[in-house]
Amino acid sequence: MPFDTPSSTTERPHVVIVGAGFAGLEAAKTLRDTPVRVTLVDRNNYHKFQPLLYEVAMAGLEPDDIAHNVRNIFQGNETVHFRLGTVTDVDPVRQQVHLRGSAPLSYDHLILAAGAVSTDFGIPGVEEHAYPLKNVPDAVNLRNRVLRQFERYDRQREAAGEGALTFVIVGGGPTGVEMAGALVELFDTLNDDFAEFDTREQARCILLEMEDYLLPPYERSLQTYTQRVLEGRGVDVRTGTAVERVDTDRVHLQESPPIPTQTLVWAAGVKASPVAGMVGTEQARDGRIVVNPDLSIPEHPTVYAVGDMAAIEGKDGYEPQLAQVAIQSGRHAATQIQRDLRNGTRESFEYWDLGQMATIGRNAAVAELGGGVSFKGVFAWFLWVVIHIAKLVGFRNRLSALVNWAYNYFTYNRSARLILDMVPIADDVPMEVEEVDQQVKERLKTVETQPR
Ligand SMILES: Cc1cc2nc3c(=O)[nH]c(=O)nc-3n(C[C@H](O)[C@H](O)[C@H](O)COP(=O)(O)OP(=O)(O)OC[C@H]3O[C@@H](n4cnc5c(N)ncnc54)[C@H](O)[C@@H]3O)c2cc1C
Repeated sequence: MPFDTPSSTTERPHVVIVGAGFAGLEAAKTLRDTPVRVTLVDRNNYHKFQPLLYEVAMAGLEPDDIAHNVRNIFQGNETVHFRLGTVTDVDPVRQQVHLRGSAPLSYDHLILAAGAVSTDFGIPGVEEHAYPLKNVPDAVNLRNRVLRQFERYDRQREAAGEGALTFVIVGGGPTGVEMAGALVELFDTLNDDFAEFDTREQARCILLEMEDYLLPPYERSLQTYTQRVLEGRGVDVRTGTAVERVDTDRVHLQESPPIPTQTLVWAAGVKASPVAGMVGTEQARDGRIVVNPDLSIPEHPTVYAVGDMAAIEGKDGYEPQLAQVAIQSGRHAATQIQRDLRNGTRESFEYWDLGQMATIGRNAAVAELGGGVSFKGVFAWFLWVVIHIAKLVGFRNRLSALVNWAYNYFTYNRSARLILDMVPIADDVPMEVEEVDQQVKERLKTVETQPR
């Protein structure tokens, strides 16, 4: 039976899930033994573990340590089928999802789980000059940039220009903190690679945060600990500092002198995927779809929005855009479909807060668990490592990440120091496979002719 046809009364209902991230994948897993047909659509053929993108960007892990082929996850399962495709429109009245370059998918139930994209908050120059970190090509692109800056500096110091080895990270949330901690570790590793200069003296990592403290949602003692550790490891932490605009070779701040830099990493915020705007329903300020308590969309009870693209009312405003919220909401939407099939009543979603954690680098992390328990230091770091390995999808990924981390830990190395040119593809630019291929060819041609 073709998977893109609507179901007649005798067929199994067709569930379309858009996005194979944390939310979409969990929804598909929940439905895999349910009498339905599931089509799981994603623009990539892999699920990526976003919390570890920074490790790829900072040469600690390889892309295939943190990404897993979706078809492989559902191999042998007759219910869930994967479709590689980019969603370009959603028609909740005709119950159809439009894909670039192929026939629309008709559905009986729809789960929208397309996640979020970076936002520049309208700050001039960010889109053109900053390096985002939202997907695997972003991470590899940033890794290339960092490594290439050292090569440039090594080759010709004067020509490399001012700020060639000044790396500015904007956003003192978990991503910015984790990246800053890993970047100064990379400076240490590179010191053995470059005999002509001391990378620890020449390279600088500056972390900018608009609020007065790093890790804004964490408790104060963990915030101050984080700042102290980062500063002790050589990061120049500047809180209460807002970016005004970004140029090719400097970042301009609102109340202090500009910083010369050729590499600005944007870890300052996200907004909902453009897919959220395709449904024509109420959106919150950051573009997230405002959902009913059962996570369905107002006026369309068979359409759900989950994860980063859903504005889910919680105790203190909308629930945060975190992996656990995505997993639990994806599972909840799938469970409501199962309830509908059994003619049961639907339930409201309640987020079970398991806490949050962030690593600052080797032997240092902060953790806040549910019930007000918090801790920091080596034990928090060990817990962070164990949890992240356990949460990776697939045994091979877990084993490979464990081996790489153990190797890096004992050798003080960051072993994935490869410059691999790829095309960074923005999450909000829907492209077909052929277009991507074409872009790759064009970009590789440019890269090959560029002086390095
Ligand atoms: C760098 C970084 C670090 C993070 N660190 C943490 C952390 O330490 N802890 C934590 O809890 N959370 C962290 N998060 C947040 C966490 O990753 C997200 O909350 C979570 O991934 C949301 O899951 P999701 O399924 O809603 O979206 P995603 O995981 O983003 O998945 C969305 C999927 O939809 C697909 N998609 C998008 N648009 C289309 C389209 N038009 N057509 C087809 N497919 C499409 C994408 O390819 C993607 O696979 C981090 C996020 C980032 C970016």
